[in-house]
Amino acid sequence: MSSEREQPLRVLIAGGGVAGLEAALALRDLAGERVAMMMLAPGSDFVYRPMRVREPFAYSVAQRYPLEDMAREIGAELRRDKFKWLDSAARVVHTEEGVELSYDALILALGASLRPRFKHAVTLDDRRLDEQLHGLVQDVEGGYVRRLVFLIPQPTPWPLPAYELALMTARRAFDMSADVSISVVTPEDAPLAIFGSAASDAVQRLLAENRIETITSAHAETPAAGKVEIHPGPRRLNADRVVALPELFGPPARGVPKGSENGFIPIDDRCQVRGLDRVYAAGDATDFPIKHGGIAAQQADTAAGAIAALAGAPVQPSKFHPVLHAILLGGDRPLYLSAHVTGGHGSSSEVSDTPTWSPPTKIAARYLGPFLESGDRAALR
Ligand SMILES: Cc1cc2nc3c(=O)[nH]c(=O)nc-3n(C[C@H](O)[C@H](O)[C@H](O)COP(=O)(O)OP(=O)(O)OC[C@H]3O[C@@H](n4cnc5c(N)ncnc54)[C@H](O)[C@@H]3O)c2cc1C
Repeated sequence: MSSEREQPLRVLIAGGGVAGLEAALALRDLAGERVAMMMLAPGSDFVYRPMRVREPFAYSVAQRYPLEDMAREIGAELRRDKFKWLDSAARVVHTEEGVELSYDALILALGASLRPRFKHAVTLDDRRLDEQLHGLVQDVEGGYVRRLVFLIPQPTPWPLPAYELALMTARRAFDMSADVSISVVTPEDAPLAIFGSAASDAVQRLLAENRIETITSAHAETPAAGKVEIHPGPRRLNADRVVALPELFGPPARGVPKGSENGFIPIDDRCQVRGLDRVYAAGDATDFPIKHGGIAAQQADTAAGAIAALAGAPVQPSKFHPVLHAILLGGDRPLYLSAHVTGGHGSSSEVSDTPTWSPPTKIAARYLGPFLESGDRAALR
């Protein structure tokens, strides 16, 4: 602990997802006992969301990790309650249960709210993806669904799951000798365009090899069940089923500024909330346009660096320089995609069928990746 500060800095982390856990791990590493952390989260478990896409195909269920155990290992107090509103002048968070929590620094890692964008489509909700899609996969296997359309809304939510689900469905149909035609309709100018041209071209080839049509730079509407209208065009598709990603919005958070588009929390390049002192935000809740677990983790690391310096740790806070890593499932082998992000698109785009980062976890997170990996190893002993 620094000589000027006798008490540890009280850090409140609202949210127990990727960003919240990564922030807690980073802070413990960077600031040690200079910080006393509390995590505020309503759920009992951290769920590894990327693996949920495999559930409808009965490969396995996504891993769950008890938050209580994780918080204990990190050395953070866990409070099972919800952030309700912020009194930034008093540095107090008010919770759903009516408790007042004081902080010296606050990290908002509340995730995004999910809402359906298309009236006549099944909107994916990863909390019940298996329930939503298991029947669809069976109907594809049985030849009852012959025309399937995946829709990606604008602004684009997480980039991967629509492509992974399309690929997995196409391969399952092929394995079962079922005849299905699959289209992905997306506002992106190319599939997974944010990963840059090398990665995006490889994904386009993989989709084409699996006879998946991609309709890019496209804005869709669903005027009636089984009907998709595409603009510019207009072009019309008929479908037995239409599956859509949800539209993402900023979380309800009274007392916290809202950005103009979809109410996300506006942050600067240090991940500090614009206009609020000692309040940081990370992950899907923020106004950074790319929603991705690896990005959530990098923002959490940036916020943790700034707070560690505030706590007197010998840390030079750095700016947020987004780098994207993703593992695309659904082909013969996973595809490892990477890019630096500049101006909303990937530059120095890389694609490989062997891991190019370590540990090669689906959510690339400096602290959370190795932490979950060692937890999995311990559980297997
Ligand atoms: C199907 C699917 C596949 C994906 N695949 C990948 C992938 O392969 N790679 C990748 O990098 N990313 C992937 N993503 C995206 C990634 O999961 C998200 O970007 C990431 O989870 C965002 O982390 P977060 O911490 O911001 O939000 P979340 O993970 O949503 O966590 C938010 C946390 O806040 C809590 N919370 C909510 N409201 C409150 C409140 N009022 N008070 C306190 N706590 C609250 C929630 O309970 C939760 O613990 C995928 C997403 C989905 C849905």
